[in-house]
Amino acid sequence: GNTRTGTTGRGAKAGGSSRTNTGARASTTGKKGTGSGKSTKGDSANGDAEDGKSKRSQYEGPDPDLAAMLERDVLETTPGVRWDDVAGLTEAKRLLEEAVVLPLWMPEYFQETMERRSYVGPPGTGKTLLAKAVATECGTTFFNVSSATLASKWRGESERMVRCLFDLARAYAPSTILLMRLTLFAMPVGKFAACFCALAVIWDLPWQASGEHESSRRVKSELLVQVDGVNNTGTNEDGSRKIVMVLAATNFPWDIDEALRLEATGKRIYIPLPNFESRKELIRINLKTVEVAADVDIDEVARRTEGYSGDDLTNVCRDASLNGMRRKIAGKTRDEIKNMSKDEISKDPVAMCDFEEALAKVQRSVSQADIEKHEKWFTEFGSA
Ligand code: ADP
Repeated sequence: GNTRTGTTGRGAKAGGSSRTNTGARASTTGKKGTGSGKSTKGDSANGDAEDGKSKRSQYEGPDPDLAAMLERDVLETTPGVRWDDVAGLTEAKRLLEEAVVLPLWMPEYFQETMERRSYVGPPGTGKTLLAKAVATECGTTFFNVSSATLASKWRGESERMVRCLFDLARAYAPSTILLMRLTLFAMPVGKFAACFCALAVIWDLPWQASGEHESSRRVKSELLVQVDGVNNTGTNEDGSRKIVMVLAATNFPWDIDEALRLEATGKRIYIPLPNFESRKELIRINLKTVEVAADVDIDEVARRTEGYSGDDLTNVCRDASLNGMRRKIAGKTRDEIKNMSKDEISKDPVAMCDFEEALAKVQRSVSQADIEKHEKWFTEFGSA
């Protein structure tokens, strides 16, 4: 139904920044199978091709089957998240724009070594969302890689998978790879040569805990090799450089390997829980697509959600906007519900009482102790 209020999954807004796709030859398509829209082979299958064959057509490496699976599982179409969809985090946005977006637009101004940056903060505060916004604003193909997804599927094949992932990112360049849940990060390439940005590496490998140190070590070194080599990505037909960006984020900075921590001189940026103003913005973003009753007091909701993460607030809004529908179907049989028209179900605007109910149900997910742990870590290691 249209009561879903999440900011993700929506299409890119029409009439977004006119600069979005200029400069770096970045294309808006970002579609599976069409990538940068410059498919050199399989052109007969161009367009919105849905079949696996045409998706694979941009990949020329040794592991077409693995590539096809990665394309299915971690390649996202340009995720349609704009800067405006991310509430608050003004400084993080500015720094990311400077570090990633501007060099893609204007490579000629960004040949110099750039600062390295890593994004650290409690879960649900918008790190993934920021990475998606970068991918959207740059018009890059987005690879959303989390250790959990990959580990479960690729156990035993992880090094091949890492190699394949980077081959794929080159094939679909310009690309953004987001590595989530890192325990080791900010292993810098040091250079920002011709608009390349490596913010981080290595994710946390769940099987580390079960003692498979050798395999996790091999995966880490493969990842380091790939990240190190990522700016030797070759050129496009028109001679321009292929661009692959690696972003990384972690919710567990204290797990970062000591040796790497010393080496990682990149600037760390703390992504905090949203403050009052950001919470208001977040609520507004979440209510963009729903009808809101006049009695809804956004300031009041924001006041009462201190300590809530962006994710928690999204859940509050989502829950509140479902309440009207819940009331309508309460006490009805399945058949009666099935026979209700969509209009009948979802016409009520979301009201303050819906928020009251949602607030009673959705609690904050990040504890005060966790925040203190983050802040303490940041005071100690935050500004390298
Ligand atoms: P993280 O990567 O920091 O754990 P995410 O970026 O995945 O958190 O956030 C989870 C969800 O919470 C997002 O999809 C979005 O709906 C909401 N959210 C979190 N932070 C923000 C924010 N700053 N602005 C808008 N929505 C947010």
